[in-house]
Amino acid sequence: MLRVATHCPYCALQCGMHLRAVEGSVTVEPRDFPTNRGGLCQKGWTSTDLLDSPDRLRSPLARDHRDAPLRPVSWDEALDRVVAGIRRVQAAGHDRVAVFGGGGLTNEKAYLLGKFARVALRTPNIDYNGRFCMSSAAAAGIRAFGVDRGLPFPLTDIADAETVLLAGSNAAETMPPFMQWIAEQRARGGTLIVIDPRRTPTARAATLHLQVTPGTDLALVNALLHIAISSRRLDADYIDARTTGFDHVRRLVAGYWPERVEAITGITVAEQHAAVDLLAGARTAMVLSARGAEQHANGTDTVSALVNLALALGLPGRPGSGYGCLTGQGNGQGGREHGQKADQLPGYRRIDDPAARAHVAGVWGIDPDDLPGAGRSAYELLDSLGRVDGPRALIVMGSNVAVSAPNVTHVRDRLAALDLLVVSDVVLSETAAVADVVLPATQWAEETGTMTNLEGRVLLREQALDAPPGVRSDLTVLSDLAARLDAPGTWSSDPVEVFDELRRASAGGPADYSGISHERIRDEDGVFWPCPAAEHPGTPRMFLDRFATPDGRARFVAVEHRPAVDDIDAAYPVYLTTGRVLQHYQSGAQTRRVAALREAVPEAFIEMHPDLAEHHDVIEGDVMRVVSRRGEAVGPVRITDTIRADTVFMPFHWGGSGCANLVTSDALDPTSRMPEFKVCAVRLERAS
Ligand code: SF4
Repeated sequence: MLRVATHCPYCALQCGMHLRAVEGSVTVEPRDFPTNRGGLCQKGWTSTDLLDSPDRLRSPLARDHRDAPLRPVSWDEALDRVVAGIRRVQAAGHDRVAVFGGGGLTNEKAYLLGKFARVALRTPNIDYNGRFCMSSAAAAGIRAFGVDRGLPFPLTDIADAETVLLAGSNAAETMPPFMQWIAEQRARGGTLIVIDPRRTPTARAATLHLQVTPGTDLALVNALLHIAISSRRLDADYIDARTTGFDHVRRLVAGYWPERVEAITGITVAEQHAAVDLLAGARTAMVLSARGAEQHANGTDTVSALVNLALALGLPGRPGSGYGCLTGQGNGQGGREHGQKADQLPGYRRIDDPAARAHVAGVWGIDPDDLPGAGRSAYELLDSLGRVDGPRALIVMGSNVAVSAPNVTHVRDRLAALDLLVVSDVVLSETAAVADVVLPATQWAEETGTMTNLEGRVLLREQALDAPPGVRSDLTVLSDLAARLDAPGTWSSDPVEVFDELRRASAGGPADYSGISHERIRDEDGVFWPCPAAEHPGTPRMFLDRFATPDGRARFVAVEHRPAVDDIDAAYPVYLTTGRVLQHYQSGAQTRRVAALREAVPEAFIEMHPDLAEHHDVIEGDVMRVVSRRGEAVGPVRITDTIRADTVFMPFHWGGSGCANLVTSDALDPTSRMPEFKVCAVRLERAS
C-alpha cells in the first residue's frame, strides 16, 4: 500500500490530495494543503477514474494513408514515421514543422517541448493553448507591473480583503474550493462584487452583481475609475510614489461618465456608484480577473482598465490588497514561463532579447545564432497550417485543438491540410482521432513533475503508480525524437534532471526557479517564484517595495472601449457567451470519459432567458441551433432568468454538433492574440 501526497490533475488551483494505491487500484483522499485545506471538487474526487479507463490509449497508432483507419503500431515504427515525416517536410525549411503545447503539461514537459522545437526542429513555430486562456492578463500584467504572475500574493490573502471585485470569474463552478476564501472573507464582514453577464453561483454569492452586456467590461471599469476620480476616492500618495502615466488615464476616463456607460453596459449609474463605494471605502481590496473579462479582442485592454482601477486605489503591493488573475489551466502559469510560448524562452525571457538568447543557448550548448526567433501565436499558427508558406507537419502535446480552438471548423480544415499530424494524448481525443500518428502518454499519477499553480507556487506531483505497458512519458518521447533527429546537446527524460536544467535556464530571468528543487518542494510543500538561490525563501508576495519595471513603478495604460468585433445586428441579434460547468474541464477529453461527470452533464446545452424563449416560442428541452457567421451548434434549451434576455450561454466541453467553438469568433486581441471566445453575434433557429 502506498500513500502519496500530490495534486489534482485539472485546474490551476492544483488542490492538494493524497493518492492511496492498493494492488493496482488508486483512490483519492483529502489533504490539508494551504490553498484547498482538504477541499476538492467533483472533478478532483473522480480524477483517478481515467487511469484505468477503457478509453485509455495503450499503444501507438498510425494510419497508412489519409483515408486509412488508425491501427496499432510499435513505438519504433511510430517514432520512425514521425522522424521521416519531419525530415520530409523540412526539406523545404525548418519552419515547415510546428509544435502545439498545453497549459496542463508539467513544467518539465513545457520546458523540454520548447527546447525540442528550437533545438531539435529549429523551428520558430511553437505555441500552446494557454494563448487561449491567460494571455490577455499576462500581457496586461507585464505592461503594468513588468512581470506576469497570476496572483502576486498567496490565495489565503483573499480572506483579508474587505472588498473583492471578481471580473468574469465563475469560481464557484470552475474551482469550488476557492470559494472557501471568499466565504471566510464574507464571514469577516467583507463584500464581494461580481461582474458577469450571467447570475452564476458565484454572482449569487455577491454583495453586488453587475450583470454587464457581454463585451463591455472595459467601459464599465473605466466608468468606475471615472467615479473614483470625480468623488476624490483615489490614493494620491500611492499614485505619486509608485506609478507613472496616471494623468493620461485620468484624461481618457473623463469621457466615461456614468450615464454614457449605463447605455453601453446596462449597469445603472446607481450600481456603478455602489461598486465604487464598496471598493474605495474598503481598507483593503482586491481586483481579480478571469476569462470572462479576458477572452475578448480587447481582453488585454480590459485587464489594463482593471489594473488602472486597482492602481488608482493604491492596491497592488499592499497586504490584503492587489490585482490578480485567476489562472485556469492546471499549469497555465508554469506553462507560459518556460518556453512553449511563441515569443518566450525559459524563465519568462523574451526570445528577441540578445542576452536571454545567449544565456539559454549556453545552457542548451548551441550557438545563440542557431536559435530561431519568435513564431506565430496559437490561432495564427493553426490558421497557417498547410498553406503555401505554412507548416506542413504539426506535433500536438496536451491539447485538443479540434474542440478548443475558436471557429473550429476552419481549424479542422487546416489540420486536414497537413502532411503529418502527430498527437500525444492519454485518450483518442477529437484531435488525436484525425492524426496520422498517435502517441499514448502517461497520466499525472504515473509520472513525477512540477506544476506552478495560480499563485506562482511551484508544486510537485509525485508518481503514485506504474504506467500501464505501452504508454510513455512525453519526456521520453521528446528525448527519443531528439536523438533520432541528431539534435545537439543533452536530452534527459528524467524529470529531476530536466527540472535541474530548467533551473539553470531560468536563472536570472523574471521567473527564476534556480533555487527550487524537487526535494525542496517536497520538504516545503511548494515554493513561490522568483526564487534565485537555494537559500532564498521564495517570494509569496510580490511588489511590496517596487514593481518589476526599470524604474520600479507600475505603469497606468490608457485604454478605450471597443465594441465586440462580431457585434449583434438585425441578422444575428443575440449575444453568445461561452464558459464551463462544474463537472467538466476544458475540451472535456478527460472529464467526458469519467462516468459520474458524464452522467451529471452529458451534453452541451443552450442557456436562455424566459423572455427570449417566449420570443422564439421555445420551451425547456427544445433543441435549438445557435447560428453565427461562422457556423452553428446544436443543443437542448435550458430556460433560466439568471442570464440576460439578450444573451445565450453554451459550455464548451464537447465536440460533435454541440461544440460551442463551431460558432465562436476568431477575432484576435492585437496585443495578446487572444481569440474573442466570450462574445459573438448569433441567431437562434429551431433544429429539425
Ligand atoms: Fe481539481 Fe480544480 Fe477541482 Fe481543485 S478545484 S479538485 S484543482 S479541478
